[in-house]
Amino acid sequence: MSKLQTAVQEIADEMRARPDRGEVAHYIPELATVDPNQFGIAVVGVDGEVATGGDFDVPFSIQSVSKVFTLTLALGKVGDRLWSRVGREPSGSPFNSVVQLEYERGKPRNPFINAGAIAVTDLILSGHQPREALGEILRFIRFLADDPSIAIDENVAASEQRTGFRNAALANYMKSFGVIENPVELALGVYFHQCAIAMSCLQLARAGRYLAMSGRNPATGHPVINAERARRINAVMLTCGHYDGSGEFAYRVGLPGKSGVGGGILCIAPEKASVAVWSPGLDAAGNSHLGRVALEALTKRMGWSIFGA
Ligand code: GLN
Repeated sequence: MSKLQTAVQEIADEMRARPDRGEVAHYIPELATVDPNQFGIAVVGVDGEVATGGDFDVPFSIQSVSKVFTLTLALGKVGDRLWSRVGREPSGSPFNSVVQLEYERGKPRNPFINAGAIAVTDLILSGHQPREALGEILRFIRFLADDPSIAIDENVAASEQRTGFRNAALANYMKSFGVIENPVELALGVYFHQCAIAMSCLQLARAGRYLAMSGRNPATGHPVINAERARRINAVMLTCGHYDGSGEFAYRVGLPGKSGVGGGILCIAPEKASVAVWSPGLDAAGNSHLGRVALEALTKRMGWSIFGA
């Protein structure tokens, strides 16, 4: 077994046995029913090596991890104009916080907190019907993962649509400043559905490969995005991908990463590997507890931190 395979196996066994699992997200009723005893990990190296462990094949709700893919799509559509609508500074606030928006006149701090992600989705929606925009997002993710079976969990989308009052408040507030172009309910509808995309760790790690390969598609070698854009998306993932837990994640793991309240984390070791972990229990900042613990162990063993061995 390779060094990577051994590390992944041992980490998966260790995580399955741990009693500290965090709390599943309760504010989305459909996510509150997920069994917290699951743990999965998949690593896809830029050399093609694949290492998996635990429940790596079980689909889960990717939630905010989808924001990496919508940011990539929106940058492709409007280029750097995106940054006039959404900032790129860490927020230091919870992912669904409202306060900062008032001080900053409706401009979200970054594309990974909820307000910023809704604004990014609104950019993708402009000029399209919601169904087309959602189709574009789903097709892009299927293309990246090279897997046409990836789908939306309609129960999760409906569950969030029924209870997403906080997101509705954020979207309406931004709309009052003209930051949202489309009808609020349409932008929210696309956003809730993109968050409800279900993927396994293996599918997610495969979808993230372009960020580990300077923007190239591993199958063809052709660019999905250029190297500069890939580098910059990784930078925003490092500084903002875990909300007010981003500093802690950088300190412990040392890699760009994006978490979601479904308990998934996509983590990029540039020029080395794309890694996805999943454990549904969250810490106080809404990031997967064991997901982070597992990534810390992996980067330490592999010497993958971007800050040095
Ligand atoms: N769909 C979730 C929400 O909008 C995404 C949040 C997250 O994953 N942090 O609340």
